[in-house]
Amino acid sequence: MSECVFCKIAKGDIPVEFVHKDEAVFVIKDLNPQAPTHLVIIPAQHIESAAELNDPKIWSSIMGCAVETARRLGLDKEGFRMVINTGEQGGQTVPHIHLHLLSGRIFGWPPG
Ligand code: 5GP
Ligand code: ZN
Repeated sequence: MSECVFCKIAKGDIPVEFVHKDEAVFVIKDLNPQAPTHLVIIPAQHIESAAELNDPKIWSSIMGCAVETARRLGLDKEGFRMVINTGEQGGQTVPHIHLHLLSGRIFGWPPG
């Protein structure tokens, strides 16, 4: 999937500063941050969306990495939000599953 922006980042074709990277997942800062801290947790494997992800190991890698990253950065003190936009009505714009980790401001509910 050479045209996928997150696959290009995973391969190093688009240079970014990795907040975390291992064989299963990587974490980058969002290009268009929606909060003082806005990170994106992305599995290395190209899977289009949460609706397509069946492997519990990959789910565990994504969720575990998100919470570990939040704790490592101290985001757990004030709180944080984790979001996985899925599909067109879910607001997903990059078709490679990713989890948004947002913190540093108060988030409203219901979401927009
Ligand atoms: P979605 O809208 O699919 O839930 O989230 C995609 C996110 O990826 C957006 O928040 C967007 O700002 C971010 N994004 C898109 N392209 C790039 C990129 O090339 N680099 C980084 N760091 N983030 C990107
Ligand atoms: Zn991809």
